[in-house]
Amino acid sequence: MVINEKFIELGHPNRPGIKLKRVIARIWHGTANFNLSATDEMHEKYMGRKFKKIWNSKTNRYDIFEVNGKPFVFGGAHVYIDKDSATITAPLDEVVWGCGDRQMPYQIHTPNIEGYKGQRKLAYTLFNNMNNSYTWNIELCMNDMNNWDKVLDNAIEFVKIYMPGLDKYDLRHYDLTNKICPSPFVNLKIKEVDPRWVEFRNRLRSALS
Ligand SMILES: [Zn+2]
Repeated sequence: MVINEKFIELGHPNRPGIKLKRVIARIWHGTANFNLSATDEMHEKYMGRKFKKIWNSKTNRYDIFEVNGKPFVFGGAHVYIDKDSATITAPLDEVVWGCGDRQMPYQIHTPNIEGYKGQRKLAYTLFNNMNNSYTWNIELCMNDMNNWDKVLDNAIEFVKIYMPGLDKYDLRHYDLTNKICPSPFVNLKIKEVDPRWVEFRNRLRSALS
């Protein structure tokens, strides 16, 4: 597997440069983009895309827009992994917008209620709803599902080198916010935790031990 380090420019809306408080968990995502061209390299380019800043004199801050004028859609992960490579898009001690899903103030001090403002209890218990301040975020590319197993192998290899530690939890984005992510690891038609996720997590954690 080729590992590229290509950081999004500091100050870009998707790379605020805020330091992580500490790493409590690895959060797993799937890109849900099935186009063959939606590789790790493509996702890095997309996350670092052009934007517009317009000063808002009412709030005394910049509002951020897409180049087409629509409100900017924030997002990101520390790393995107596909069947043959991985691209690291931000230093691993910085915050990315991986699993907050709601901007402040909703993320902070929300009651301990399942599903409150799109946050599950676990997000409150582990992170006080400041999910992005305590997590590494890993995106698994879904552009070639025929090679999904290869993507998973690469992910395990990547984590062993760059994001090790059995002291960290491994959680799905779904576990924090109910978003169906990574979709190949979330089957809501069954009561038990998706066995595909259980198997991957077990494999990962034994590789880390
Ligand atoms: Zn996700």
